[in-house]
Amino acid sequence: MKRKKTLNLAKKLIILGIMVLAIGGVGYFYDNMAVKEYEGSVVFPKKTDYTQVEEYLEGKDTDIVKVKRVSFTASNNTDTAVCGGVVRFGALIYGENASGEEKYYLTDDVSVAKNSDIKKIRDYVVAIPDNGSDEDRVVSMDVSFLDMTEKYTYNVVMQEMSNKNTSILVNPYMGVGDNFKPHATKTVGGRKMSTLAAGALQDLFDAAKKDGYTIWVNSGYRGVSEQRYLYNRAVAKYGPDQNDTAVPGHSEHHTGFAADLTWTCREGYISNNQVYDDEYDWMMEHGHEYGFILRYTKGSEDITGYIFEPWHYRYIGKELATQYVEEGWCTLDEFFCIPRW
Ligand SMILES: [Zn+2]
Repeated sequence: MKRKKTLNLAKKLIILGIMVLAIGGVGYFYDNMAVKEYEGSVVFPKKTDYTQVEEYLEGKDTDIVKVKRVSFTASNNTDTAVCGGVVRFGALIYGENASGEEKYYLTDDVSVAKNSDIKKIRDYVVAIPDNGSDEDRVVSMDVSFLDMTEKYTYNVVMQEMSNKNTSILVNPYMGVGDNFKPHATKTVGGRKMSTLAAGALQDLFDAAKKDGYTIWVNSGYRGVSEQRYLYNRAVAKYGPDQNDTAVPGHSEHHTGFAADLTWTCREGYISNNQVYDDEYDWMMEHGHEYGFILRYTKGSEDITGYIFEPWHYRYIGKELATQYVEEGWCTLDEFFCIPRW
């Protein structure tokens, strides 16, 4: 049953994605959010007069002349959020054009009110940081579009901070702590990885080789002392606001589930130019089949907290990685904000 639901969702994503893209003027991220409307958990403000919304749409890239409904939507439309997760909000406007055809318009012109429980990343994107407490807590936030405001409330849950949890979320808002160690490591391509990811990475290398590509590991598991050295070095070089080396305890490399990959033509060095290589295209097409996803994507820098890194891949298991790619997610921080266990 679960599988069937996923397929239906994927189908809806494609149909609505095409529809939304056809209207134009909306971001790639929102294709996914629009679909969530069909899951029945988005918030519909009580409103019958949409004159202000119709005025808002004037000059926008849509031919809606009559608005029939507005709904708030979020990348997490459940009532539970994982500590450290990120939520993105938007408003979906539904109406008709002059010929009476049904049209959608999706906007990120929403704003979340300042709130001490959350960290505002953009007007419409928030993170739920670890507050250092194991107590159950609830966070609420007011989301506004024009004169409409709705409250979103999440029960915040702690993920399992275990070295066997391949879907552990590690980011600037959630760390694993200095004492975390992979339960065991295995060397792949000359670098250590958690044994839970090592076999999959070797399978990925073997498959790439069959297609004519040799993939190298530049960096795998890093313990906290090595991360501290790299962090101090990066801060000394680029200052405290540098965003390519994680704070010790907040690096995915610490989990043993992340690998910096490069390939023969780069002679083992990581480079921004990897994005132009055939091997990168191969990784984009096949990485998820082995459980790996590109972690720090272009355009999501302020959400992930990292520059675009075409070399950094994260193991989350085949099933979740496939779901991540098929549903069109761009950040793991949003995908893992919804409990996946
Ligand atoms: Zn990395």
